[in-house]
Amino acid sequence: MANNGERDVPACHVPDCGLPIDVVIKTSDAQYFGTHLQNLESHADGFPPASLGKRKRVNHMDIEEDSEVTSLMLHLMHKQPQPDLRQTPISILVRLAEAAEKYLIYSAMNICRVVLNTRTSEAPLGILAYAIKHGYHEVADVAGPLSLGESWNEARNELGPSGVMLWASCVCSFNQSS
Ligand SMILES: [Zn+2]
Repeated sequence: MANNGERDVPACHVPDCGLPIDVVIKTSDAQYFGTHLQNLESHADGFPPASLGKRKRVNHMDIEEDSEVTSLMLHLMHKQPQPDLRQTPISILVRLAEAAEKYLIYSAMNICRVVLNTRTSEAPLGILAYAIKHGYHEVADVAGPLSLGESWNEARNELGPSGVMLWASCVCSFNQSS
């Protein structure tokens, strides 16, 4: 960390990034990431500059995502070689996909959707919930049938009270037809 006279400022974690640090993000697990306002503004619509208040030389922002998700999310907002999301643990990838939707990181939204569609068997319920929430029917069509063997409790946790009722009716239809 370099000391800027206000508070220690972490370096950017993306390899070979030479951009100046003007935003420090604190994650839900109390990790700090130094990053760049220009990247947040140019790659996403969900980090409104107004949320930073009066801009300072180094701005500070707390977010609800943890450091695993934040690390990937910020990396995806660099003009650098991108992380291979096919290798990302599925639980992190699902959370990353939700964060991409939340912050409207358009390039990340697309690559997460495409990769999740190829990995539905690894977490069918979680991916089904994501697909329903964001209207990705082609993903839901793949994840849905794979989720029918999951338990009621797991389905309720992932899909919520209304979603699980719809899911249960699909299970009944599937069992009657098989
Ligand atoms: Zn950087």
